[in-house]
Amino acid sequence: MSKIIATPSNTKEILETYDLYAKKNYGQNFLVESQIVEKIARNAVPNDDTVVIEVGPGIGALTQFLAKYAKKVVAFEIDERLIPVLADTLQDEDNVEVIQEDFLNVDLKEFVGKYGEVVVAANLPYYITTPILFKIFESNADIKQITVMMQKEVADRFGAEVNTKDYNALSIITQYNYEVKTIMKISKHVFNPKPNVDSAVVQFTYCPSNLVKDEQGFFQMVKACFKQRRKTILNNYGEYLKDKEKAKQNLDKAEIAYAARAESLPQEAFVRLYEVECNED
Ligand code: SAM
Repeated sequence: MSKIIATPSNTKEILETYDLYAKKNYGQNFLVESQIVEKIARNAVPNDDTVVIEVGPGIGALTQFLAKYAKKVVAFEIDERLIPVLADTLQDEDNVEVIQEDFLNVDLKEFVGKYGEVVVAANLPYYITTPILFKIFESNADIKQITVMMQKEVADRFGAEVNTKDYNALSIITQYNYEVKTIMKISKHVFNPKPNVDSAVVQFTYCPSNLVKDEQGFFQMVKACFKQRRKTILNNYGEYLKDKEKAKQNLDKAEIAYAARAESLPQEAFVRLYEVECNED
């Protein structure tokens, strides 16, 4: 393995050598604690036959540890300034391919098709955490596990359980197809530059529920039920159906109280409500 990148002094040296500054608009916060980086890589790579897609390699801190444990790493980096840097910092890693591209523009299904099964790993740019994850969730590509660092508050929402303040439509939609596990919490002090918030590493393991026929329709209904948090399920669902009487009938059939709030209802209740709605057609 080439010289460890994720230390405060080595990162500073690389940034100075290339006269680089971290671009805020690309969410650049580089990890400078190698033990943490190695732990993320060990969790992200199930075995040495794994192909890893990395989003945003930066100057290569996580990439070099992913390369140590995986068969191959393909890293998508949007910032053209970092491409020559990565060629240098990762020069000893012959199983890494760096592609300069906005990850949001990658045709994931086609890309993953070349490799069979892959996993995703990243210290995500915080400004597009949810768009990147939903791009992967909705890609239909054969991606069995996603291990990513994100802002702790956002991590809490993905993994939230019913009747907690963080539980919302995002929690239900994500947990419908993925088992969500927080692997570790990470202090803001292990980055250069230091972000304003703490982070967490979350692992999403593909585990589809297959409870409804039209997932997208189900997700639309769930989002509508959470539209205004203070409102009752009857009000939110009634507005979504544009028919309060019909909403009452469907809630009765699904055995959901009119006065319930969406955050007090488990996934099964939403599935029941959606089934009632579908059987009406
Ligand atoms: N992996 C490095 C680390 O842990 O030190 C850097 C992580 S930094 C939080 C996020 C990285 O994602 C930056 O290198 C940034 O340039 C890159 N990035 C931002 N938006 C991107 C996009 N749409 N597609 C690909 N890379 C992106």
